[in-house]
Amino acid sequence: MVQIREERPDDAAAIREVNDRAFGQDQEGRIVDALRANRAAMLSLVATVDDRAVGHIMYSPVRIGDVTGAGLGPMAVLPEHQNQGIGSALVRSGNEKIAQAGCPFIVVVGHVAFYPRFDFQPARKLGITCEWSVPDEVFMALVLDERKMRGVAGVATYRTEFHMDVHELHVRQAIELARQARAAGNHPFGALLAIGDRVLLTAQNTVMTDRDPTAHAETNLVAEAIRRLPSDEIRRSVLYTSCEPCAMCVGKMYWTGIRSIVFALPSSELALLAGGDFLVPCAELFARAADPVTIIGPLLIDEARDVHRGYWPPRGRFAV
Ligand SMILES: [Zn+2]
Repeated sequence: MVQIREERPDDAAAIREVNDRAFGQDQEGRIVDALRANRAAMLSLVATVDDRAVGHIMYSPVRIGDVTGAGLGPMAVLPEHQNQGIGSALVRSGNEKIAQAGCPFIVVVGHVAFYPRFDFQPARKLGITCEWSVPDEVFMALVLDERKMRGVAGVATYRTEFHMDVHELHVRQAIELARQARAAGNHPFGALLAIGDRVLLTAQNTVMTDRDPTAHAETNLVAEAIRRLPSDEIRRSVLYTSCEPCAMCVGKMYWTGIRSIVFALPSSELALLAGGDFLVPCAELFARAADPVTIIGPLLIDEARDVHRGYWPPRGRFAV
């Protein structure tokens, strides 16, 4: 007997398994985890059979101009439970709850043989296009509130958690900047600021060459951004860093207006290599901020750890 219910805190691992196995890759599961971590999911439903999760659907905010609606997806059903109506039950139940919440529209990237049965139609017909280059027919929309949607058209933009490929690209460059910092005689940390796939500024740690213990890659980057970029551009940008930022850098980023960060190596891993010193997970600090800050990470941990290999003395702490 299939039951549909809202996600509970202890469902996370089972949901990850459903997504990983349904898609045969980890990309969708990582997006779901990141949306949950940032409290960005509008709705997350689980389909269970005998109390075991066999299907999952998540909705998150999608913007078209000034109007915010819902993006359906990822939606996943375990391979051995597909073609049993579980996906349909998830979509029906999810769409109903989203409509009840007063959401003006739902968009989905999905199969043309599946979603039209829930009244989705090609979004292009409504003047709505997807921010990703997908074939027109697979991007579909369902208008829930005609009045709010009057005159609304343009590009539908998903949450930044969906852009894992771009995030990985930039994080990899931040790790490369860390490598360059090390080659220059500094601590192995790098950071950059980007909007979409456009890199605005890059920076490296200069603690040794500047003889300044506060010259972290992120502080250097943010100081440069303040000098060179308009504040609205800083606010729209994402800060990428080779390692989870420290308390000092978290404060500086926040006061500068940065509201999205992506990091590679978690600070707990750095502590194993370099010593614990002043260790606070950045999510704990940002959680106390008035404005929400989107955090994605850790990413590419092995590559990020590699830059530190052989750098820190065996006992962890370094001599300045
Ligand atoms: Zn720092």
